[in-house]
Amino acid sequence: MDTRTSAAGPAERLCHWHSGTSTTARLVATYPPVSGGGAADLYACADCRERHGLTPIDTLTTDELYTHLREAVAPYLHLGRAS
Ligand SMILES: [Zn+2]
Repeated sequence: MDTRTSAAGPAERLCHWHSGTSTTARLVATYPPVSGGGAADLYACADCRERHGLTPIDTLTTDELYTHLREAVAPYLHLGRAS
């Protein structure tokens, strides 16, 4: 009768803002690979989202997500900037 006990409750994830695990951590940003590293999925817990004004990425519209990604990579895009 205890076959489902381990499946209960949300999974803990690492919050990249306070560098600890939290069951409230959600994906807030995905940066493309830079400097040869892999893509970084950044998770923030509820406290850190409130403190830093972060929005879970799955609540963004497509336009908002696109804007977010453009801003995220802007510091790295020195080439091809129209002016
Ligand atoms: Zn946190």
